[in-house]
Amino acid sequence: MPLKDYDKKRDFSSTSEPDSRGKPPGTKKEGGLAFVVQKHYASHLHYDFRLELEGVLKSWAVPKGPNLDPANKHLAVMVEDHPFDYKDFSGIIPEGNYGAGKVEIWDKGTYHSLNEEDRVGSEEEVKAGLEKGHITIIMKGSRLNGEFALIKLKKSRGNNWLLIKKNDEYAVRGWKIDSDKKPDDVKKN
Ligand code: MN
Repeated sequence: MPLKDYDKKRDFSSTSEPDSRGKPPGTKKEGGLAFVVQKHYASHLHYDFRLELEGVLKSWAVPKGPNLDPANKHLAVMVEDHPFDYKDFSGIIPEGNYGAGKVEIWDKGTYHSLNEEDRVGSEEEVKAGLEKGHITIIMKGSRLNGEFALIKLKKSRGNNWLLIKKNDEYAVRGWKIDSDKKPDDVKKN
């Protein structure tokens, strides 16, 4: 029951978020692994960074959001796995529900691991990375492209990671999320 924590936190009679109860893990099974970044106007604005892995979305809450400047290492707190269908979710989580507030899709696309381009090899490499607390991926999205790393903070004991843009042709020195010109909701592009 990999999504038990996800289901437990939510009342599906009240929220329109995907209900994973009784459903097998989802996946599109071919092509690249999916990623999504959602801008979540909850009690504290944050960005949810999610990577498809074995039919679910491994998830991190990133208070300051992803950054294209390699100098800015942003905290990413690992949270419960989300169902695969969550990659398409946007809308309003009603008041009184967990995470109440608006959710927009800030970026979506595909990713693979640093050394393996195909889905099976990438999943193996990312799984190993999760265990050792260091994941390196290549992203192909509207906003996020190229190499990113997620590095677990070993001293913090909890689920604190850093999300870091690696220095490549997609890195942008001085980039700030608030001055980004693209519309917030990439589905409208
Ligand atoms: Mn969130």
